[in-house]
Amino acid sequence: MTTRAAKRGSGKSGGKPRAGRKVTPARRASVQGNPLLGKWSTPFALPPFSLIEPSHFGPAFVVALKDHKAEIAKIAAQASRPTFANTIVALERSGRPLNRVSAVFFNLAGSHTSEALQAVEREIAPQLAAHETAVMLNPKIFARVEDLYQRRDRLRLTDEQRRVLELHHTWLVRAGARLGRKAKARVAAINERLATLATQFGQNVLKDEQSWRMVLDGERDLAGLPPSVRAAAARAAADAGLKGKHVVTLLRSSVEPFLQFSSRRDLREQAFTAWTKRGEMGGATDNRAITAEIIALRAELAKLLGYESYADYSLDDAMAKTPGAVRSLLTAVWPAAVRRAAQEREALQERVHTEGGNFEIAAWDWRYYSEKERKALYDLDEASTRPYFMLGTVIAAAFDTAARLFGLCFKELGDVPRYHPDVRVWDVTNERGVHVGLFLGDYFARPSKRSGAWMSAFRSQARVAGNVRPIIVNVMNFARGEEGEQTLLSLDDARTLFHEFGHGLHGLLSDVTYPSISGTSVSRDFVELPSQLYEHWLMVPEVLQRFAIHYRTGKPMPPKLAARIKKARNFNQGFSTVEYVASALVDIELHALDEVKDLDVDAFERATLKRLGMPREIVMRHRIPHFLHIMGGYAAGYYSYMWSEVMDADAFQAFEEAGDAFDPETAKRLKKYIYSGGNARDPHEAYFAFRGRPPQIAGMLKKRGLDG
Ligand SMILES: [Zn+2]
Repeated sequence: MTTRAAKRGSGKSGGKPRAGRKVTPARRASVQGNPLLGKWSTPFALPPFSLIEPSHFGPAFVVALKDHKAEIAKIAAQASRPTFANTIVALERSGRPLNRVSAVFFNLAGSHTSEALQAVEREIAPQLAAHETAVMLNPKIFARVEDLYQRRDRLRLTDEQRRVLELHHTWLVRAGARLGRKAKARVAAINERLATLATQFGQNVLKDEQSWRMVLDGERDLAGLPPSVRAAAARAAADAGLKGKHVVTLLRSSVEPFLQFSSRRDLREQAFTAWTKRGEMGGATDNRAITAEIIALRAELAKLLGYESYADYSLDDAMAKTPGAVRSLLTAVWPAAVRRAAQEREALQERVHTEGGNFEIAAWDWRYYSEKERKALYDLDEASTRPYFMLGTVIAAAFDTAARLFGLCFKELGDVPRYHPDVRVWDVTNERGVHVGLFLGDYFARPSKRSGAWMSAFRSQARVAGNVRPIIVNVMNFARGEEGEQTLLSLDDARTLFHEFGHGLHGLLSDVTYPSISGTSVSRDFVELPSQLYEHWLMVPEVLQRFAIHYRTGKPMPPKLAARIKKARNFNQGFSTVEYVASALVDIELHALDEVKDLDVDAFERATLKRLGMPREIVMRHRIPHFLHIMGGYAAGYYSYMWSEVMDADAFQAFEEAGDAFDPETAKRLKKYIYSGGNARDPHEAYFAFRGRPPQIAGMLKKRGLDG
């Protein structure tokens, strides 16, 4: 996924401070010595991380918000007739200090947080929301944009300028610019409250993940766990101050391998139950009441803005356009997925019986028995693939693919600022040796990091105020190898690395004028195209041949193993599709609700799943109380992954049709229209320009093995 920090970094009100401002004594005091506000004379103008303390953020936000307010007031107060330059360009150039401080803050809040940062986050999130609302609902700003919008045919704008003008207009209208005063005040109050609630929701999930752990004491508790999982558990124990023991945590990277391998059914049940109850454990971190309030406020917001439901409101601005379109995609896949999952379940139950087990498969058994089933059917298990995916070589494979497709070159930098010693930094150049941007890789799990994997930006590409080059970061939660040992990735981890790197390229290759349309600032159901598409190259035979190297022997992956991986590609896809589509459908139905007063989140989730015919042995990939996606930017948007998947499967076919996974002509179009394009074109048009036709669903169904 991509994050809010990335969005804010290229924010809808990006730009640059004006020169010649009066400096008052109070202002001088808060600016002086605050590294967030001064000029950054670091290499590549990276944030001076070593100088930044949590206590700097509060005062820096105060100054940056004040600056931006003054800039907006000045744009609004102009006596001259609106022009593209004095209005849209001015808006695009405004708020640069705010974007800079926000980008540093939200990146750290996600990847290296602390009690102190979390306290700042709780305080600043509603203030930022209030500020953003005030800008968006400023009547004079809207009057100027509206005036330009009405005259857009006569303004002699370039295609990009026209697109940016239309987007600004859309954003303002969607924010409520056409509402009366009373309604606007209510919108502002709702936004502020939503920001507070979403922050609380995320912090609660993190707290539940941090506070739960299962200590494995001795060989009996470790039964079934292969060396890599034991090593990660030993590391987690050391992190928790329990050196010499083994610990399972609720991070996906910890609990999922445990569920795959532990032969202790009782421990699997304990771990799985805790994992699926994050945000629902009662007490101060329980997210159910928060969720109910968020859903009610969103529904009210949508009504105020003239939409039937929040899903209608949210999707109106996406490729999908309507909840109906989302439902048709998801329900087209659902029955086949459930059928396939039922077959998978039969096979797993059979395995339980042949092993002498006398119980019905439960949710905490699925991963364990499907791992065995995979081994039996395809002679393929984690243990046989992991030695071929060293973290270092998978990174090299991702870079090499970018070199072959897009001419990029990556050179690691030693002595540059970074926010944690684990972070690696690369200078990215193009085929002419020109600096493109910086790429930061932050790969290992740690307690100060939220779970999951994401791409974000410390700075987004734009040209409206100088040639601003991007600083892009990929954050993962891989379990680090033992001291002095290589970190070995599962096949899924390797795919995740390629996925986030695809988002990273979307940020790095961005080639637009205006910050608000830079890189990943695109429609949510389009943004997963560059990332999911990139995953395809991991499994290209020549990439495996060169980069899937055994960490001990140095030999490439045997072709027979690669073939078995390929053959096993659709294995367990019933399960994966069901856990994903169930989450996506619950998300849409939750945001399409008409009656949201006193919503009982549990009852709603249960009833929706029952109506769908959710298999008893499968749990949603993200249950509502810890569904971080939909509390942040992916509200009514979790379907986006599958929407994008229709395009990524179809897009990769273009290379297959060309007979070369690196076909230069196809790669050129891909770069121009998709990876470099930002939001400069309507996403339907961008895809059409790349492919020469709209995407077809057949490729996705085939990819998931649901076509037969
Ligand atoms: Zn993603």
